[in-house]
Amino acid sequence: MIVLEPGATIGMLGGGQLGRMAALVARRMGYRMLVLDPTPGSAAGQVSDAQIVAPYDDVAALARLAEQAQAITLEFENLPPEALDTLGRRVPVRPHAGVLRICQDRLAERAFLARMDVPVAPFVTVPDSAHASGLDDAALFPALLKTVRFGYDSKGQRAIGSGAELAPAFRALGDVPCILERRIDFEREISVIVARDQSGATAIYDPAENVHVHGILDTSMVPASIGPALASEARALAARIAGPIDLVGVLAVEMFVTRDGHLLVNELAPRPHNSGHWSIEACVTSQFEQQVRVAVGAPVGDATLLAPAATANLLGDLWQRGEPRWERVLRLPDVHLHLYGKGAPRPGRKMGHLTAVAATAADARTRVLAARALLPSGSAG
Ligand code: AMP
Repeated sequence: MIVLEPGATIGMLGGGQLGRMAALVARRMGYRMLVLDPTPGSAAGQVSDAQIVAPYDDVAALARLAEQAQAITLEFENLPPEALDTLGRRVPVRPHAGVLRICQDRLAERAFLARMDVPVAPFVTVPDSAHASGLDDAALFPALLKTVRFGYDSKGQRAIGSGAELAPAFRALGDVPCILERRIDFEREISVIVARDQSGATAIYDPAENVHVHGILDTSMVPASIGPALASEARALAARIAGPIDLVGVLAVEMFVTRDGHLLVNELAPRPHNSGHWSIEACVTSQFEQQVRVAVGAPVGDATLLAPAATANLLGDLWQRGEPRWERVLRLPDVHLHLYGKGAPRPGRKMGHLTAVAATAADARTRVLAARALLPSGSAG
């Protein structure tokens, strides 16, 4: 394994909060970070050595990145894979374009998971409007219609009660290829994050339990309240995916736990994930350090959980009545504040998060929720 020495430059595709948290680790470790993002002053750009402000398919910008960085990584998957191919001819790109081609396309992802014998919710493809009528297979309803590409945080999704609602929903999503998937009456949602290095060694985190509100992650706590057998099954599923997808990087595997105790994989994200932010405070090695380690060619770090923890997201909605009352949370000795440096607090926009570490996951969750409840301006402190 060729390990880049500190002082080398890591190129980051994407300038959001995930890139920001990776950049903070990279700089702590003595690496330089060069971000490519079309928006000036991006969340990651603010804490990096430099940012190239350009679209991801800008050939000259990619050439500059390949010239200045000795390894490339990414913080979101909706990038043109051709850009990664171009970069990959000059400099190691971790993860490589093949992983992206699978993870940014729900059909490619489903085909891959089927080959790996990984269970998913029942679904059918709805490639065009001709297929968006006459579908009344009762086993599929109630259902969710999801666009095959460019979906995140429930963007590109519609709930559908019956076949009759399909055609209008398909039009509302823009007449683009979709999958129609049975809505699972799950017991809980969990995710497992796995890091894998060049040698194929993996570090697998404990499953986290996630609660979504309006399709956006609200809280994540670890360990998930599932038995040890299911927890090891979930970890094994993540490992089963990481090898064959030839991951060199970090991958989050989102899963449903069904009421009869089975696991269904919902989605793969080939990067650090919102449901792993607690790893910064609660683990031997954070998911962001894993990303940096793997990007520079070092072995994965130890993913052991040192203490139960919970993370609560801070969305732009919190700013509705003015700047949140940060001092109320800063007074708490066991709650950690993370803000991403984003300017406009739009509703639904991820602006920051809080993490609490405690004796149990439930306790950590209670503390982090209580802390967040103190934040809105005008609320009782
Ligand atoms: P996704 O964009 O596919 O990750 O979906 C975002 C969130 O929507 C998931 O984390 C779930 O909370 C919910 N969701 C997605 N698919 C399903 C499903 N088949 N059944 C129930 N809930 C779902």
